[in-house]
Amino acid sequence: MSSAPVDAAERRAAAPIICYRNDQLPAYREAVFATARSTMKKVAEVTVPPRDARTFEVPAGHFFRIVSVEGSQVGDLNLWNSNDLSERFYSGKTRQLQASHVTTGDRLWGSFPALRPMATITCDTLDWYGWDDDGAGVHDVIGTRCDPYTNHQLMGADYHYCCHSNLTRALADGRQLSLAEAERHIHDVLNVFMCTGFTLDTHQYFMKASPVRPGDFIEFFAEIDLLGALSACPGGNCGSSHSDDSTPCYPLLVEIYKPLADTLPDWGGSDKSGYSGSHGR
Ligand SMILES: [Zn+2]
Repeated sequence: MSSAPVDAAERRAAAPIICYRNDQLPAYREAVFATARSTMKKVAEVTVPPRDARTFEVPAGHFFRIVSVEGSQVGDLNLWNSNDLSERFYSGKTRQLQASHVTTGDRLWGSFPALRPMATITCDTLDWYGWDDDGAGVHDVIGTRCDPYTNHQLMGADYHYCCHSNLTRALADGRQLSLAEAERHIHDVLNVFMCTGFTLDTHQYFMKASPVRPGDFIEFFAEIDLLGALSACPGGNCGSSHSDDSTPCYPLLVEIYKPLADTLPDWGGSDKSGYSGSHGR
């Protein structure tokens, strides 16, 4: 262990600087969305069985909700441009531009080179939770997704119903891909309803029982044509274990809503990044 320099206290006292100021992002158009939401009608729904996943399509300009039904349950969400699977949800950049956990008004950003909002969160019935005494919040973009490789590394056993495998099977079925082709498209998730943080002493990723209850939902506006995949995590409410069948698990419901078109007068779609793409050459 290295000894601290004489000016250690002074070095530690440097002021934190927010890396990416979110007041430089386009403002959240709450009033516009409120008008559109007041007119929307449900046009489709998909039930995601426990310890499994399903895909769903959301046209640009529609809304979708992920709803807790039957019991407290978390979900792992992947999003793609439904016309180009190479454009997908970028968890790390969303973490930098928004926060470690997301809620109403935050955007889910997509991968390079488009780097544009794929979806905007327009309602979150768990937004009352905020930050608890353990430093935890809800809907994180810091964890990845439970997967059979990490489970095998730590437990020495195969488990096939981790969110990574559930999402892989669902995408393979939804887009008629082989499992190997589908797996390449699975990416870091939005942990819907999951309550997580970093321990205050060792800064390790932790989870705790989700505050979600049947009837709670998180709602998104589709900024582009979306293909979604949602896994009902084998961890259930993530209050005990994951990557096994010992925890009670419940389905999740995905609902697709269509607003009246003329209630979104100023919404012209989500523009791709204006960067030239030359990378200096
Ligand atoms: Zn999971």
